Parts: sequence; C-alpha cells; structure tokens
Amino acid sequence: MTEPANAARPAFGTETAVQIEKLNKWYGTFHVLRDIDLTVRRGERIVIAGPSGSGKSTLIRCINQLEEHQSGRITVDGIELTNDIKNIDKIRSEVGMVFQHFNLFPHLTVLENCTLAPIWVRKIPRREAEETAMHFLREVRIPDQAHKYPGQLSGGQQQRVAIARSLCMRPKIMLFDEPTSALDPEMIKEVLDTMIELAEGGMTMICVTHEMGFAQAVAHRVIFMDQGQIVEENTPQEFFNNPKSDRTKLFLSQIL
Ligand code: ADP
Ligand code: MG
Repeated sequence: MTEPANAARPAFGTETAVQIEKLNKWYGTFHVLRDIDLTVRRGERIVIAGPSGSGKSTLIRCINQLEEHQSGRITVDGIELTNDIKNIDKIRSEVGMVFQHFNLFPHLTVLENCTLAPIWVRKIPRREAEETAMHFLREVRIPDQAHKYPGQLSGGQQQRVAIARSLCMRPKIMLFDEPTSALDPEMIKEVLDTMIELAEGGMTMICVTHEMGFAQAVAHRVIFMDQGQIVEENTPQEFFNNPKSDRTKLFLSQIL
C-alpha cells in the first residue's frame, strides 16, 4: 500500500485509520450515499473531488458522526461508529473537522476559541490548554492574533485559527470540507500552505476541495464522487493525466 518516499509525500503506514464498508445513507427517501467503500491508512492523504451535490460533505460528516448512516459500517481508529453517546464523544475527540465557514465562536477571543474544548471537554488545566493553543497558533503563524476576536481577523486568518483550534484537541485524523471555498483568492494560499505543513507532519487527512493544485501536490489518492458513489479513485498523477470514466473526464474538463 505504500509508495516511494519523497520529501513532500512520505510513504504512509499500513495501519487502518478509517474503514468504510458498504455505507448507505438516505435523507428521507433521497439515497445520498450508495455503497461507499473506502479504507484510509494512517498518514494517508485523500482528496475527495466531485460535482456539487454528489455527497462529498455528507460522506465526511458521517466519519465524525455529524450525520447518521442507515447501513454499512464505519470504523475510525478501530472504533465502530454506533449511536452510543460515549462512542460519539470518543470519535469527535479523535477526528478534527474544518468547515468552509470557519465556525469560530464570535464572542470568544482566538485563544479562548482554541482552549474552550480542551478545558471543558478534555478537562485539561487552563494553563496547559493555553500553552498548547499558543503552540498551534505559532504553527499556523498567527500567535500575535491570540487576543483578538474572530471578527477582527481576515478570512484566511480565521480559517487558520479554525485549523489550530482543531489541532488543540490532538486529533489523529483531520477532515476538511472545502476549507478555502469561502476565501478571497489572495487568502487561499496561506490556508493551503498551512494544510501542506500539516500533511508533511504526517497527519492523516481527508480533504474535500476543488483546489486541484493542492491535490496534485499533497494527495496520495484522489477520490472522485458523483451521485453518491465513488466513481473513480487513483493517484493524482493518474487521476489528472489519465482519467478513466467519462464523468471524471467531464468534471476535469470543467474545472481545469
Ligand atoms: P456535496 O458536498 O458534494 O456538494 P452534499 O453531501 O452536501 O453534497 O449533498 C448531497 C445531496 O444531499 C444534495 O442533493 C443535497 O441537496 C442533499 N442534502 C444535503 N444535506 C441534506 C439534508 N440535511 N437534508 C436533505 N438533503 C440534504
Ligand atoms: Mg459540500
């Protein structure tokens, strides 16, 4: 399962981080995910692409149980997702998620946004939580913004706070749902650079994104979804240069 190591794309492990088997989900009578099978190894970086409405957000929201599924199995770090509340808490603390619209608490400072869950959910002493928060704010290159409120920051800075806030929970897996889609073009690069650094640190990542340059530079595997199904999956090299299905070809012709 590994590929030759290089600086930007080190080989990933053989341990399973996420296993999805025959996943089906309906919204009412609408069959939104159809027989999804996907295994993600520890340290692997997956990009999910596909047209709007194809089920990308729903799929990654199922991985941290923001959405329930009706059939099939999802196992995260060896824990099967069930409706057991203890289970949900455990999964949420292992899986970080970054959304298109940052979702920061507007009435809390950047530092407070980053320490809230560690203090109240993880029961970490405030001082230690603040040290950890400052560590990750330095990693995303905005330690000087710690005492500001989200509304005083640019969109790119807010998204980097959202990434730092997730990292403060020490997740094993990071999910990204179009993290740059709401940003002005000049801010996209700073967020992608942060994600690239995270990737180079070995984080297991599943990213829904239309940033095909990022996919080419960072992904081990690109998954293409359409109408609730995985239509094609391949290395970025093969996916972009030698797409197999007509739906993938059409999609690529529209976005590249
Ligand atoms: P994508 O992220 O690929 O754009 P989504 O997963 O958001 O796709 O949505 C897939 C389909 O499910 C779309 O047709 C969307 O309208 C529908 N959908 C998404 N969320 C809900 C919901 N909460 N209730 C009903 N339908 C939904
Ligand atoms: Mg979406």
